[in-house]
Amino acid sequence: MDVLILGGGPAGSTVGALLAEAGIHTAIVEGEPFPRFHVGESLLPHTLPLLERLGVHETVRSLPHTRQKDGASFVTHDGSKHVVYWFDEAVQPAIPHAYQVRRDEFDAALLANAVGKGAELLEGWHAIAPRWDSRRLTGLLVRDPAGGEQVLRFRAFLDASGQSSFLASRMGWRFPYPQHRKVAAVSHFKGVSLPAGREAGNITIALAAGGWFWLIPFADDTVSVGAVLDVERWQASAGTPETLFGAAVEATPELQRRLANAERLIPFRAIQNFSYRVMQIGGDGYCLVGDAAGFLDPIFSTGVFLATTTAASAAGDIIDALARHARMDTSDFGPTISLTRSLHRLFFSLIRSYYDANFLSFFFNPSNAFQLQAATVSLLAADVVRPGRWRRTARFRALQGLARLQQMAARLGHPIVEPLTVGPTSVT
Ligand SMILES: Cc1cc2nc3c(=O)[nH]c(=O)nc-3n(C[C@H](O)[C@H](O)[C@H](O)COP(=O)(O)OP(=O)(O)OC[C@H]3O[C@@H](n4cnc5c(N)ncnc54)[C@H](O)[C@@H]3O)c2cc1C
Repeated sequence: MDVLILGGGPAGSTVGALLAEAGIHTAIVEGEPFPRFHVGESLLPHTLPLLERLGVHETVRSLPHTRQKDGASFVTHDGSKHVVYWFDEAVQPAIPHAYQVRRDEFDAALLANAVGKGAELLEGWHAIAPRWDSRRLTGLLVRDPAGGEQVLRFRAFLDASGQSSFLASRMGWRFPYPQHRKVAAVSHFKGVSLPAGREAGNITIALAAGGWFWLIPFADDTVSVGAVLDVERWQASAGTPETLFGAAVEATPELQRRLANAERLIPFRAIQNFSYRVMQIGGDGYCLVGDAAGFLDPIFSTGVFLATTTAASAAGDIIDALARHARMDTSDFGPTISLTRSLHRLFFSLIRSYYDANFLSFFFNPSNAFQLQAATVSLLAADVVRPGRWRRTARFRALQGLARLQQMAARLGHPIVEPLTVGPTSVT
């Protein structure tokens, strides 16, 4: 075959659809039977053009649980400060809304789209080991659903295996971030108290001591609620995801209020050690896309945008190179490797700011002087690929500079804006 893709999540099914559409013989190896549960239900506006290009925008919009959102809401742990970043208030706003999706439905729709376009699906097959020919990756040892093993050969391999980061884990290229060790406990609820009016569909992020919560409402008013906390808390609590979540709610008045009449619908799940970087994301015969290429933190819902954007870029690289010389060299994946690195740098800097109490003080007291607030909205909407990105990011960098000034001013006893007392890095 021409291209073998490992993983049928958003990254794998994006590249699968685009390659199959271009007439390239493509197969997707996926271990889990779909639909399957997955975290990551909040999409960003600038994911939508790619859904349109894949031909699934209308399908995604019509899924039973899909809910439109016009912005992202942020609230402090006790509800005393509340700010909404509306997507139509970005710098030159282009896409004023996005969706929350249930990932079982969303991922299954994207995978069906890839199959519908001609990608072969090997569902229930598991990747076991890469096969190298010198420095070139040429094969993958797989186990089929009946337990038989065989080596599949290809011209190019796309590792879209998500957090398991198949190739990087086996090759020693995957490194955790020691300063950023988090755990998430998540479930779905009904009866959660949601804001009224236009804000009702928004994702809400609530600060907590040593972490934060997400509340992601779906179309039927069920809500995904997750707590993201320092891993030390998890280890200290020595309990289940349920006790970890319960203790975090107990310490967060805003969550107590939101969940006062809520009923849990599915068992809690815990996800740990999801922050890591990958040193090698492309080489002769292979490229890593989506979470397989690295992941820091879900705070700004950048995961599916990164997965689909890097996957679409890799599809473009493959279509170009196979037409030229019928194989994939490291340099052929150059555009995707540099795009992935630059998006990681940008989003990781945004994410790190969220864990900086000085930055958060401005984030919760937004001012649109010099379009600082609008530039923040642009990044929150993932408006980072179309031309003009430097103008938007330069303003955001200015905001990060203000956070450094706030730190100095606070030390002198005269903070520029009122400092926050409880936040993701504070310990109570
Ligand atoms: C706590 C948390 C909350 C998040 N919230 C959001 C959010 O709100 N919005 C957002 O955009 N992102 C969010 N994310 C990130 C998002 O979930 C991921 O970025 C996204 O799913 C990545 O897509 P992917 O296709 O790269 O990987 P995945 O969706 O994980 O797909 C990988 C697939 O590969 C398959 N696979 C792996 N190994 C093998 C193997 N050896 N053999 C066969 N199959 C294999 C798996 O079964 C899986 O189906 C969150 C992440 C975390 C940890």
